[in-house]
This record gives sequence, C-alpha cells and structure tokens, in this order.
Amino acid sequence: MTARNTSEVILFKSLDFIPIPILLSESRMNEMSGRIQRIHRFVNHAFIEQIGYTLVDIPDMDAWFNTVYPDPLVRQAMVEGWAKIVESSINAGIDTAEMQARILCRNGEYRWFLITAQITTENQSDLHIVTMRDIHDLQLLIDENQTLSNTDVLTGLANRRKAEAVLENALSTTNGSDLCLLMCDVDYFKAINDTFGHLCGDDVLVQVARLLEGLQQSAACIARWGGEEFLIVLQGYSLDETYQIAEQLRLDLASTDFFYQDKQLNLTMSFGCICVQDNESLRSALFRVDSALYSAKSAGRNCVVIG
Ligand code: GH3
Ligand code: MG
Ligand code: MG
Repeated sequence: MTARNTSEVILFKSLDFIPIPILLSESRMNEMSGRIQRIHRFVNHAFIEQIGYTLVDIPDMDAWFNTVYPDPLVRQAMVEGWAKIVESSINAGIDTAEMQARILCRNGEYRWFLITAQITTENQSDLHIVTMRDIHDLQLLIDENQTLSNTDVLTGLANRRKAEAVLENALSTTNGSDLCLLMCDVDYFKAINDTFGHLCGDDVLVQVARLLEGLQQSAACIARWGGEEFLIVLQGYSLDETYQIAEQLRLDLASTDFFYQDKQLNLTMSFGCICVQDNESLRSALFRVDSALYSAKSAGRNCVVIG
C-alpha cells in the first residue's frame, strides 16, 4: 500500500489502530474495457489479522469476489445481491450499503462478516471505506436459534410455527391458488399410549414422521401440527392428486409394521384434504382442512375426506 500524500499517510496509520477489518477502495476507469473498476488501496492490520488477505491477494473488487466466494454460483449470487443492495441504498439516499456474507478467509475457514461499504465519496481523495465486522459466532447462534424455533423436538419435522410461516408466505405470493393441505391424525393413539406406554407412543410418532417424510420431494412442508396430528403442505398439485397422495399414505401406514423394543404394533390414520381457494385466509383454510379430518374420524377413521 502506498500513500500518495501526507493526509493518506495519516489516515492509513490511524486505521491500523482500529480493531475492525477495514479496506479502502478507489474507482478507476479501465481504459481497455471502459468499465469502472474498484481498485483496493489499503487494508489495515485488523483486516490482515482476521481475514488474512493482503492487497497482493485482492488488488481489486473482482479479485475479492473471486477469492472469497470460490463457488461460481455463490459468487454470482453475491455479486448480484451486492449490486441490488448498492442500488437500493442509492435510491434511498443512504451513503452506505451493507450485507452479511460468508466469506472464505485466507486460512481456509469460512466466516460470517457484516460488510459495510461507503458508496458516496465526499472525502476529496475518492477513497471508499469498507468495514468488515466479524459476526460469525452471532450468526451461528441466530441460525441455531432459528432452526430450534422451527423444529419439532420429538420428530425433527417442521413445527406448527414453521408450517404457518410457510403457509403465510405461500398465500402472500400465490394467493393460495395452487396450494393443497393434508391434515392427518393417528387413529386411537391414546390406546397405544395406554397399552404400551408413553415412550412407545413417542417412538411411534417418530416412525410415523419418517414415513411421512417419503413425501419430502413433493411437499412444501411436512409438519407436526400437534400431538399425533400432522400437516402436509403441497404446492402445484390438484385436489385430485392430493387425494391420491393421501390415499397412498393411508395405505402405506395401514400396512406398515411399527416396532417398539420387542413389540410389533399397527395403526391407521385419518386424513382431511382441501385445496386452498383464491384469496382464502390461512385461518379459513386451516379450519376447512381440520373439519375434513374431523369428518374422516366421524366416517369411521382410516379414510381420506375431501373438504
Ligand atoms: P382419535 O382416533 O379420535 O384420534 O383418537 P385418539 O386416541 O388418537 O385421540 P385423543 O385425542 O383421544 O388422544 C390423543 C392422545 O395423544 C392423547 C395424548 O396424551 C397423546 N399425545 C399427544 N402428544 C403426545 C406425545 O408427544 N407423545 C405421546 N406419547 N402421546 C401424545
Ligand atoms: Mg388421534
Ligand atoms: Mg389428535
């Protein structure tokens, strides 16, 4: 890094005392391509210490993207994502653009950083300040927390909160017009608990969950809705196809031998299925699929009812 004048010398020296990785870049017109390039002029001590690269490794922004996102698909997504963030900052009249990024550090480790770049230059030197704050541990905690809050502890399936979020999202993006719901409930489950014990009941629920997961490829969400009740969200299927899927599941479940310790047991499940109507509310769709399930119970169980 070479400072061009006294004020740059002072600036570069000062930045070396700041314990946050900092990179200074400058716009330069590439004579050959006519494209504006972002040339890197300086990285501080904290940058080299925490991220590892020097200006030799990442002389410009293209080199940065190539180095820290070695996977071409990830790189393309990051380049496009960053361009969008910069554009929306400019449109909103904000002087900085910011994004979270999982980057490859020099030591081979991937870490999460919060990258904040100055996108306007009011300082005369045309230097843009980019700070990179290490948020790795925080990000992992957030990810773990999110996974836990969306997962059913017993079966590992999505929980009700996650299923509702998937549904809310699907309803807001598609009006619900290509969504079908399947709700199913183990028949006489209480008898399994009463006969073989609660731990056996738990184990059976896990086995049922694994069987439902056979639909993983086609379902937008497979969730444990509560107790011994499951909700499956299908996107892009007709009501008739949904019925066929439910019927196949019903037959598979009824013909499966479940095992707990040395005991073998069998069970059946009842199903309700509906197609969400255009602009139907989440509440209404859930009410209808629950009613269809209730009808399946009233009809003698081990059957599928269309609502
Ligand atoms: P139906 O055919 O009408 O569905 O009858 P059912 O016996 O399956 O339904 P009921 O609602 O009478 O009983 C459900 C039982 O499920 C009662 C509850 O103790 C049990 N249950 C709920 N959650 C769990 C769980 O996580 N583990 C176990 N082992 N049992 C559970
Ligand atoms: Mg039941
Ligand atoms: Mg139930």
